[in-house]
Amino acid sequence: MSADQQKDTPEQAEFRAHAQAWLAENTPEPPTVRLPQSPLEIMTTDQLSYLQAWQKSAYDAGLVGCDYPVEVGGGGRQNCQRIANEEMRRARTPFMPNVIGLGMAAPTVFYHAQEELKQRLLPKLFSGEDIWCQGFSEPGAGSDLASVQTFAERKGDKWVINGHKVWTSLAHFAEWMILLLRTDKSVKHDGLSYFVVPIKSALGKGVTVRPLIKITGETGFNEVIFEDLEVDDSYRLDELGKGWQVAMTTLAHERGAGELVTPSSGGMKSESTHNTSAMALIDLARRTARNGATAAEDPLVRDQIMQQLIREQGLAENNRRGRVTELLDHPMRLALQNKLLMSEIMQDSAGIAMDIEGAAASLYLGDGSAPDGGQWPMAYMNSFGFTIAAGTSEVQRNILGERVLGMAKSK
Ligand SMILES: Cc1cc2nc3c(=O)[nH]c(=O)nc-3n(C[C@H](O)[C@H](O)[C@H](O)COP(=O)(O)OP(=O)(O)OC[C@H]3O[C@@H](n4cnc5c(N)ncnc54)[C@H](O)[C@@H]3O)c2cc1C
Repeated sequence: MSADQQKDTPEQAEFRAHAQAWLAENTPEPPTVRLPQSPLEIMTTDQLSYLQAWQKSAYDAGLVGCDYPVEVGGGGRQNCQRIANEEMRRARTPFMPNVIGLGMAAPTVFYHAQEELKQRLLPKLFSGEDIWCQGFSEPGAGSDLASVQTFAERKGDKWVINGHKVWTSLAHFAEWMILLLRTDKSVKHDGLSYFVVPIKSALGKGVTVRPLIKITGETGFNEVIFEDLEVDDSYRLDELGKGWQVAMTTLAHERGAGELVTPSSGGMKSESTHNTSAMALIDLARRTARNGATAAEDPLVRDQIMQQLIREQGLAENNRRGRVTELLDHPMRLALQNKLLMSEIMQDSAGIAMDIEGAAASLYLGDGSAPDGGQWPMAYMNSFGFTIAAGTSEVQRNILGERVLGMAKSK
């Protein structure tokens, strides 16, 4: 019996057995298209279709939205999403494409929308039929989110939205956006309100989505321009002027510290996606020739990889500790710490791979002689985004210092 199974209640044990049996039969065949390294870089409809089909089948089998009530399309279970996530990871399934929908929009809608809106939006979000994006950042408001300027002006039962969002991942496929905007210019935090907006149906009619090309050549994120877009007041979440409080629900889940366990994006280590773990580094070092030996025999390389293994093991132990309530001194600490550690470990691993590959690290996707098909240089470039998205490492350290350790607030 694995450590994960030891603490299962009878209901969880029954659910785990169902998940294991279903996954043994239904883990999808590898795709015929190259998959991106994370859901944030999905670029083509072929990639999206393959991943959407996987999310739909996992949802139909009850592995997505497990802990949400049945009335909103969930599984009506207690603390079972964590088990589904563990089993999907073990089965090395592909990731799910609706990462912003599952991780951020779903809990926010669930805690703050009217019942009718929840029942309408959540089933298609869980199944992956509706892809969601997040319209928070603007050219002048990233870490300082309370400075958003996108403005909604009231016209009867409608709102007319004008403004400019940026870095909007997946907006090029999204049906819906969670949108933080300003409804009152005279106050800062209390002037913010929170909406869900159907952006795909408004393309060319008040919404423009412009792709931003990343250093990797991918177009994972976009600029989104609102010009006199009319939306109904029924799309507002929570009270007028309470947008900041609603955004805190989104951000807590985005940073891994929310109350609902969110359906993780599957295994992330499937054969069809690139693996940046220390084990993958060991494999690369063993295959790479250096000064008449292999890189794995170089004491410096061995030391660097060992440091990564220790950090990864620490992260795994932290996660295990998180399941023992008596060992949790602060509810937010582990989740916040893990986001910070995880993104920095990924960045360092990719950097070590660059050193191991040496000059060959300049060979990229599409070059037949590139080690591992050129995936490591791509992982290296993408890794810088992960230490910025969902709160930069500096901001994450500030939050840990202030809200967890109780240190003085930064100015
Ligand atoms: C891959 C990726 C995907 C993204 N996807 C989305 C998305 O889907 N939707 C969305 O709304 N946004 C998205 N973003 C935007 C992201 O949330 C912002 O980039 C992030 O919040 C940082 O904001 P900024 O870029 O404006 O940087 P700034 O806030 O201008 O920060 C610039 C630098 O100053 C530092 N800094 C700022 N304030 C402090 C402080 N108080 N103390 C110490 N240092 C500080 C920062 O750490 C950073 O190094 C994405 C970003 C990336 C990289």
